[in-house]
Amino acid sequence: MDSAAALARASRGCAGKPGRLPFGKETLAALSISAAPVRLLSREMVMTPALEVPRAESARLIDKYGRNITDLRIAVTDRCNYRCVYCRTGNDGAQYPELPIEDYLRMARVFVSLGIEKVRLTGGEPLLRKGLIDLVRELAKLRALDGEPLDIALTTNGHLLADMAGPLKSAGLSRVTVSMDAVDPVKFSRITRVPNGYENVRAGVLEAKRVGLTPVKVNCVLLRGFNDDQIPAFGKFAREENVTVRFIEFMPLEEDRVWSPEVVITQAEILRRMSEFMPLVEVGRDGSETARRYRFEDGVGEIGIIAPVSNPFCGHCSRVRVTSDGKIRTCLFSVFEHDLHAQMRRGADDAALAEYIRAVVMKKEARHHIGEPDFVPASRTMVHIGG
Ligand code: SAM
Repeated sequence: MDSAAALARASRGCAGKPGRLPFGKETLAALSISAAPVRLLSREMVMTPALEVPRAESARLIDKYGRNITDLRIAVTDRCNYRCVYCRTGNDGAQYPELPIEDYLRMARVFVSLGIEKVRLTGGEPLLRKGLIDLVRELAKLRALDGEPLDIALTTNGHLLADMAGPLKSAGLSRVTVSMDAVDPVKFSRITRVPNGYENVRAGVLEAKRVGLTPVKVNCVLLRGFNDDQIPAFGKFAREENVTVRFIEFMPLEEDRVWSPEVVITQAEILRRMSEFMPLVEVGRDGSETARRYRFEDGVGEIGIIAPVSNPFCGHCSRVRVTSDGKIRTCLFSVFEHDLHAQMRRGADDAALAEYIRAVVMKKEARHHIGEPDFVPASRTMVHIGG
């Protein structure tokens, strides 16, 4: 059985209840089809007053390669209500503890005192987390070193978004990114292994647009032989719904270790196949942007491609991540974590936390090694890191 067939098999029967569907050893073995090196190019919320922490330009986080670290991603849970075939086994649930919301907030404050300007809340599925709206409200009170409000974003599967978009916007969320791997309801269910999700997610996207959580971005991970036939349909969706659809190359960060280079639909292939639907024109980008952006030639609709596998952008990575259990990860592919929450439990004050963070950032990896013979899988998979 090849990868696509194995993925298809794993996703069959998605009308069942979450947790029932097998993604067994046979599937796993069938999907691990190549070990060859990749030949791709290259306690609930306690409201606290804003904390005064010393601020200075010299406080800004910079790693040993000279990269400015301005983006913080916080996973507020590693629970998820979807079991996407390329991300989770379908059987395992959360594996790591969650912290009280005020602990994430304190961490964020210290990071902001060090030059963080963007905070993205993620998971697991962040909309499952009680206290999320209060966290957004408190984050919205913080100011970056330049005195500007933070850019507060959320990555969600969108299943619960229709009801939460309005309250999140009112709390101060800036924008939202919704993950959608098909625009066909049946295919969508096969991927997520949850019935009737497509309608919910589409309603979530529309509501996010209506309340102004814009620009609404839709992220799609393509897998060969599984959902790559959705490329033109996503082009149509981007044009009709006026959302930016961004394709993300599949990375080896899944629980089932199903990744192989053959399954990855690369930037070049996406561009070629989307251009057959309608020619594209590249739009300029700023240096820190991970996505290459393209407009359709008639000016209607935009897509983006994030190509960490075939066209890595580690050289201008500006990100640092905090997991749901309070560990700092300096790269998606880190094999080491740094226990920030342990420092808090030991009674470190904010200045000590700041020094700890600064030292950790100096250890940020130069780049990932996807597809190289020395590639070592990350110590956590995507759902437990936060995308
Ligand atoms: N539950 C939220 C969601 O669905 O957006 C946030 C967490 S999810 C892990 C974040 C993003 O990571 C999703 O867009 C998902 O498609 C993407 N993702 C998961 N596994 C991936 C992989 N192996 N390679 C690339 N992207 C992946």
